[in-house]
Amino acid sequence: MFFGRKNPFSATDAFPLSDAVMEFDDSSAAVVRPARRAMDGLGAQGARGASVAQQWQQAIGLIGLYAAAMVGFYALDVVSAQVLVVLAVLAALCCLAFWALFATALHQKLRHRHIKLAIVATALACMLVLFYLEPVTQILLAPFAFVAVAYGTFTVPRRTLLGLSACLMVLYAGVVGLHYLEQRNVALLRLEALHGLALLLALPAFILLMGRVQRLYRSLYHASRKIKNIQEDAQRDTLVGCFNRRYVLAALEEQKQMADESGIPLCLAVLDIDRFKRINDELGHLGGDEVLRTFARIAQQGVRGGDVFGRYGGEEFLLIFPATSLLPALNTCERIRAQVESHAWTGLLKGRVTVSIGVTQYVLGESVLEFFSRADTAMYMAKEGGRNQVVVEEPVAKGDSVLSESSAHAFL
Ligand code: GH3
Ligand code: MG
Ligand code: MG
Repeated sequence: MFFGRKNPFSATDAFPLSDAVMEFDDSSAAVVRPARRAMDGLGAQGARGASVAQQWQQAIGLIGLYAAAMVGFYALDVVSAQVLVVLAVLAALCCLAFWALFATALHQKLRHRHIKLAIVATALACMLVLFYLEPVTQILLAPFAFVAVAYGTFTVPRRTLLGLSACLMVLYAGVVGLHYLEQRNVALLRLEALHGLALLLALPAFILLMGRVQRLYRSLYHASRKIKNIQEDAQRDTLVGCFNRRYVLAALEEQKQMADESGIPLCLAVLDIDRFKRINDELGHLGGDEVLRTFARIAQQGVRGGDVFGRYGGEEFLLIFPATSLLPALNTCERIRAQVESHAWTGLLKGRVTVSIGVTQYVLGESVLEFFSRADTAMYMAKEGGRNQVVVEEPVAKGDSVLSESSAHAFL
């Protein structure tokens, strides 16, 4: 039976984008399927803010590593306390600048790659300042330059990183020149020139090799997005964009199990557009399709965030009310019914699109089929009662519990 399937309700989490893949900066990430956007009103922000905050935490961690190495140098008496103070001031200034970026929400306007590029460039610039003040910190400059570049690899384009490393080398040469002018130390000049040469050759090679990893990440990222889109499409009705039959029935099964475990009330409504065949006959199927889409939008807008609205088939829809007792569920159904009736339908549709709704509450321990059948029966009673009304089938007193439109109003 269709209710028997194991629930794929939370299937979206089956292939989560890992943090690393989320790190990849691609404007196409903002693409959300139009139908889904129409139904959900989804924004394109996603988890971007959180991801940028994570990046910033990583950057602080890397500054901490560099500072720890510098403290080690100080303990070994190869750098002065003054350099440590300069490092602390630079780190504080950087933190302040990036805190201001977050506090003013400017980071939301900037692209992820630009923020990361700024972090990498600032880190390299600070290391150059310290290298200028204390030539021995050159020992730290080379490995930490690789760390900084690796940090930016998955987000900052390869060409930009190559440009950045070219700037680094030019500035490095400038610092070496300053050291020579100030100290006239040929041995130091040779040593720094050798380190510079090693950096000059190794850094671009490293960036080019990391480019391969970047491409791998890019493919992984696109594959992850495709999987996510496929998962979303598998849950959505292709015509109206709301959840489809498969999803809504799985959700019903899941909610039934949760209600059995917790004893929290659960309600279900079956919604059927009245005399839809006539609408099709008069407007054609394309016109009928448009009515279905508009109806689904009205209903979706009328439900709370936790409610699950989906198309059961044809012009029939299901609305699941988790953790809701009969009265609020009835109120929502009545609101949807009234909104459909009073919607500004145009032309032939004016005053002719209405919906009949049956609603019921789950009885602990009953099958999903029994639960569904009771809501379905209530919907058919609404049809028999003259359509354009909400009928409640109360589980405790089946048979006597049918409410006409007027009695439904009495609940409100
Ligand atoms: P009632 O008030 O008793 O519900 O009458 P009805 O005409 O709405 O019900 P009936 O079951 O007789 O007709 C439903 C119609 O819905 C028939 C079918 O052609 C149409 N339909 C089903 N799926 C679609 C669809 O995807 N698009 C369109 N345009 N029509 C559809
Ligand atoms: Mg109908
Ligand atoms: Mg029908």
